[in-house]
Amino acid sequence: MKNLLENPVFEMACRQYDAAADYLDLPQSARERTKWPKRLITVAVPVSMDDGRVEVFAGHRVQHHLALGPTKGGLRYSPDVSLGEVAALAMWMSWKCALVNLPYGGAKGGITCNPHTLSRTELERLTRRYTSEMIPFIGTHTDVMAPDMGTDEQIMAWMMDTYSTHAGHSMPGIVTGKPTCLGGSMGRKEATGRGVAFLVNRAIERFRLPSDSRVIIQGFGNVGRYAGIVLKSTGARAIGISDYACAIYNKAGIDLAAAVKHVEKHGCLRGFSEGQEMTNSELLLQECEVLIPAAVERVIDESNAGKIKCRILAEAANGPTTVEADKILKDRKEIFVIPDILCNSGGVIVSYFEWVQDLQNFFWSEVEVYDRLYRILETVFEQVCSEAEKHRIDNRTAALALGIGKVAEAKKVRSLFP
Ligand code: NAD
Repeated sequence: MKNLLENPVFEMACRQYDAAADYLDLPQSARERTKWPKRLITVAVPVSMDDGRVEVFAGHRVQHHLALGPTKGGLRYSPDVSLGEVAALAMWMSWKCALVNLPYGGAKGGITCNPHTLSRTELERLTRRYTSEMIPFIGTHTDVMAPDMGTDEQIMAWMMDTYSTHAGHSMPGIVTGKPTCLGGSMGRKEATGRGVAFLVNRAIERFRLPSDSRVIIQGFGNVGRYAGIVLKSTGARAIGISDYACAIYNKAGIDLAAAVKHVEKHGCLRGFSEGQEMTNSELLLQECEVLIPAAVERVIDESNAGKIKCRILAEAANGPTTVEADKILKDRKEIFVIPDILCNSGGVIVSYFEWVQDLQNFFWSEVEVYDRLYRILETVFEQVCSEAEKHRIDNRTAALALGIGKVAEAKKVRSLFP
C-alpha cells in the first residue's frame, strides 16, 4: 500500500501519526490497524468538453476507517490532487472527527483538474460523472461528501441530484454543504471560517492580545474569507489576504467586502487596488498577531518557520505546517499553534449537524447550529490545551493523540473479524 500512496503529503501525515502513536505508546499491531486507509478508490472520469473533445480525468476517494460510523470528508478539485494527497487528507479527517466526537471515520475525495479553466457546463458534467462512478461506494450510511478546495454548494447540489436521480427519490443526506433549499444546514457555508474565528478569539483572550489584532490570511476562499469577516466583526484588522494568483498587503487594514466583490467579478485578487501586491511567500513573513494559512498543504516549512512573525498560527487549511517546521516552532514558545484538526473542525461539525437534520427531516435555526458548534469547540479547545500543558507536549501532538487514541480504542473494543 505504501507504494500506491507515495506522496510528500501522505508521508507527512504518517510522520505526524507516528509521533502521536509513540506518545500514546500504541502497540505495533494497533498502529498497523489504525494507520492505513481501509479503501482506496480511483476512477476514470470521461467528460465531453465544450469544444467536442472527450477528456478523461482521474477521480479518487479514500475511506480511511469504518470503526465508528460512515466515512465523512470533502471533495477537492485541484491540479495537484493525487491518491496520496487524498489519503493524507482522509487520515486527518479520521483524527479530526474522533477529536470532536463525531460518529464518523475520515474520508476525502478529489479530481485532478483545474476548476478555474473549466466552464460551468464542463464542471457540471465532470461532477455528475464522478458521482455516478462513485455510486457503488457511497451512501448516507456509508460515505458522505462535502465541499473542500475548488468545490462549493453548487457542486454539492449536482452531486445530490445525480445520486437522487439514481435512487429514484430525493436523498439530501448523501452530501453536506448543500444549498439550504435542498436540505443544507443553516450556517454550513460559513461554519469552517466561523469556527476558525471562534478559536482564534479564544486564543486572543488566553494570551491577552489586543482585540484589534492584525490578521493575515493565506487563501481568500470559503474558509479564509469567512474567518476574516467574522474576526473583523469582533474587532480584528485584516492586513493581508491572498489567493492562488497574488497576495495583497495593507498595514491600515483591508476592506474585505470590497475584496469579496473583486474576486466575484474577476475570479481572483489580481488587480485589487486596496493595498500593495506581493507574493504568497512574502505575505507569510509579514508581522501580525494572527497568521491563518487557509489554502494548501506544506506552506510553513523549514525555510520560513523561523521567520514568521505571529503570536497565533491558526491552521485553517489541512496540513499547512511540515514536520520540519513543527520542530522549529516547538522552540518558538511565543507562537501558539491551533492545529488543523482542531482549527478547521467547525466545517465537519456543522456537516454532521446537516446530516442529522437530513436524516430526521427536521431542521434547526442558525442560532441552534452555532450554539451547538461553539459549545463543542469550547470543550475541545480546553481539552487540547490542558492535554498539552499537563504532559508538556505541543498542541498538534495533543490533538492528534486525543483523536487517534479514540479510534484505536474503538478498534480494540470491536476487536478483529473473524
Ligand atoms: P476554496 O477553494 O474555497 O479556497 C481556497 C483558496 O486558496 C482560494 O482563494 C484559492 O485561490 C487559494 N489558493 C489555492 N492555491 C493556493 C496557493 N498555492 N497559495 C495561496 N492560495 C492558494 O477552498 P476552502 O474550502 O476555503 O478550503 C481551504 C482549506 O481549508 C483547504 O485546505 C481545505 O482542505 C480546508 N478545509 C475546508 C473546509 C470547508 O468546509 N470548505 C473544511 C475544513 C478544512
